[in-house]
Amino acid sequence: MTRQFPSRCSSCGEQKVNPTILDTYSCNIKHYGHIYSVVVKDLPVLSCGSCGELYFLASSDEKISDALRNKLGFLSPAEVTNLRKSLKLSRYAFANKVGMRSNNVKRLEEGIIVQSRRTDKKIRELLQKE
Ligand SMILES: [Zn+2]
Repeated sequence: MTRQFPSRCSSCGEQKVNPTILDTYSCNIKHYGHIYSVVVKDLPVLSCGSCGELYFLASSDEKISDALRNKLGFLSPAEVTNLRKSLKLSRYAFANKVGMRSNNVKRLEEGIIVQSRRTDKKIRELLQKE
């Protein structure tokens, strides 16, 4: 997706939205029924120079997910992928072993979703069993 900047702000209507990096960004994230406050450093976003409205990018969401994963001490997407490959499991077989849907394994490995505590534990147990 290519975008021309500055682009129009859907909040105030001014054409003053530009990409920027926030030094620190704090937010509350709901994850499996719990709310966690996380602080993200160097967060890429789009922001409106007129009203200050923030627009999140796929890369913003990825960084926020990373921050949550770190806070919870969960395995990273790369660690999950490496673990699955070291056990020579397809995503489908891996999904069955840890009780996930295989398309969620894909989304987990791509950093789109953050695993539940139960799933994180199951993945670690898999490592100990083999
Ligand atoms: Zn605006």
